[in-house]
Amino acid sequence: MAAQLDSECIFCKIISGQIPSEKLIETEHCFAFMDINPLADGHCLVVPKYHAAKLHELPDDYHADIGRLLGRLSRAVVDGTGCFDYNILQNNGSVPHQAVFHVHFHIIPKPSHQEGLDISWPAKAIDKTKLSKVRSEI
Ligand code: 5GP
Ligand code: ZN
Repeated sequence: MAAQLDSECIFCKIISGQIPSEKLIETEHCFAFMDINPLADGHCLVVPKYHAAKLHELPDDYHADIGRLLGRLSRAVVDGTGCFDYNILQNNGSVPHQAVFHVHFHIIPKPSHQEGLDISWPAKAIDKTKLSKVRSEI
């Protein structure tokens, strides 16, 4: 599927070159660049060349390219920073912390407890019946 961009979107403007970025690599379906406000050195973003706000709105053609690029770029970030620990993050919606409404994946090195992504993980107990019910709904 050909690139489909939105003239009002900041990441679409980065993809088209209207807004400068520290570009890392470009593939047929994706564009990768350094995050302007990194949580740690090496924090970068992979975005599809298609304007969709959330992952479930992105056409299937893009997902394989994103996955390949995340793997390649993670290796480059590990090699470049010397940091072997990192998070891959992808937010969908303002409550889960999405600020730019164009699908993007973060690669965020985690060199220490103080730097990188800080996660709260409020796990809860769930009984087997409910787990099965939720599965069947999905
Ligand atoms: P979100 O919270 O939407 O998952 O993350 C958006 C990310 O985009 C943030 O980490 C933010 O620093 C980054 N960002 C926002 N605007 C720009 C920009 O103009 N250029 C670059 N390189 N990164 C940006
Ligand atoms: Zn966009």
